Amino acid sequence: MKKLVVFSGAGVSAESGIQTFRDSDGLWEQHNIEDVATPEAFAKNPALVLDFYNQRRSRIGEVQPNEGHKSLALLDSAFETTVITQNIDDLHERAGSKNILHLHGEITKARCSKNSNDIQSIGYKNIEIGQLSKSGHQLRPHIVWFGEAVPAYEDALPIISNCDILIVVGTSLNVYPAAGLIHYATKAEQKIIVDPNMNSNEIPDGFELKKGSAASVLPNLVQQLLKAN
Ligand code: NAD
Repeated sequence: MKKLVVFSGAGVSAESGIQTFRDSDGLWEQHNIEDVATPEAFAKNPALVLDFYNQRRSRIGEVQPNEGHKSLALLDSAFETTVITQNIDDLHERAGSKNILHLHGEITKARCSKNSNDIQSIGYKNIEIGQLSKSGHQLRPHIVWFGEAVPAYEDALPIISNCDILIVVGTSLNVYPAAGLIHYATKAEQKIIVDPNMNSNEIPDGFELKKGSAASVLPNLVQQLLKAN
């Protein structure tokens, strides 16, 4: 079975109604990264940070996977597929993809603010001030904040290095180290980028651009890959 990697970012969830990160109407036009997405912010104003993620979590609980997520899940039947996502939402899971690596954490989980291995599932419920982990400290979102290490990077490296086909979808390739992973796909015979806003002169060497939104491009692309396999 050929090995296929999907490397996804916020754009794959845009048509589900989740704001992206850096588009002009994106999340970070309305919030300062320094105020809500760093360990320093959590130390300074934990209530503000928890509230920011509580709102994101509740919104994610209300939306549904789109045709992009759903078509990607069909790849599991024909390829050894891994979805390596920068997204903290659970829409790939809910669309049916089985093998998913979250580089930047998962919003449906909370973890101890002192012991990063003490992780629990919380679904779409809020995390409140005073809500403690099993080891007795304040819970925080199970999210990789700016300035924190990306532990799943090491797991992602061999997977992407050995893939035969790479689909990159919905990422501006601006957030490092995650964005650097695509350069390790040196064995891939086919590398495709799906994005409605990129132009061919902006994409990395060796990639083919399928210009369009995830929900409009991925269903056809996936059918083509399934037929060609
Ligand atoms: P980004 O906002 O920097 O880039 C989004 C990309 O998606 C852009 O290139 C844009 O042109 C493209 N895009 C917009 N609409 C699209 C559509 N309908 N279909 C396909 N592509 C579309 O996002 P990023 O590169 O993922 O940024 C990285 C960070 O954003 C990650 O750390 C991630 O954790 C965080 N983030 C995640 C979510 C989520 O979990 N849904 C939401 C916002 C931000």
